[in-house]
Amino acid sequence: MLLNIITDEQGVVQNLDKGVTRDCGNCVACCIWSRVKEINKPELTPCQYLKKGAIEGKNCQNCTIYETEPQACKDYFCAWIAGYGEEEDQPNRCGVLIDPQITEFGLVLFARDMWKGASKMDMGKKAIKRISEEMNLIVLIADEKSLKIKRIEGPDELMKGFKKKKWL
Ligand code: SF4
Ligand code: SF4
Repeated sequence: MLLNIITDEQGVVQNLDKGVTRDCGNCVACCIWSRVKEINKPELTPCQYLKKGAIEGKNCQNCTIYETEPQACKDYFCAWIAGYGEEEDQPNRCGVLIDPQITEFGLVLFARDMWKGASKMDMGKKAIKRISEEMNLIVLIADEKSLKIKRIEGPDELMKGFKKKKWL
């Protein structure tokens, strides 16, 4: 699946297929939870370049090196900012950061709890279901600390032929 999206200078992202436009608003989930090799940022650690007390969007207000941010940050799109799911499925609201990742078994979604048990709570479950169905992708749900895959979910049709032992 190729994401048919464009981003403007303010970091507003438009999904041209779906006609959905989004910006990060007060979410900084990926600047905390994702690894960014170029700046030696480990997973699960707030980025050193986040503004102190950052509570607004990473793309314009909160990244202190936005003009020169690493290519990995420029290229990063969580599934929500790419136009999938409902407004309430934004990571900082539903508690689950979901992003498309290429693996040796093809394209999948990777989901991480941002707070304990979020992917089992109503909002998290709905976000995972909606986004996986819209994108028609399997979701690997990782433990929030170890990042080991703890559950696999996805559209019924995909799950039928899916061999869980590849991942678990
Ligand atoms: S996780 Fe998504 S919505 Fe949140 S800051 Fe990152 S790109 Fe924006
Ligand atoms: S460099 Fe900027 S955009 Fe990249 S993780 Fe750090 S704060 Fe976020």
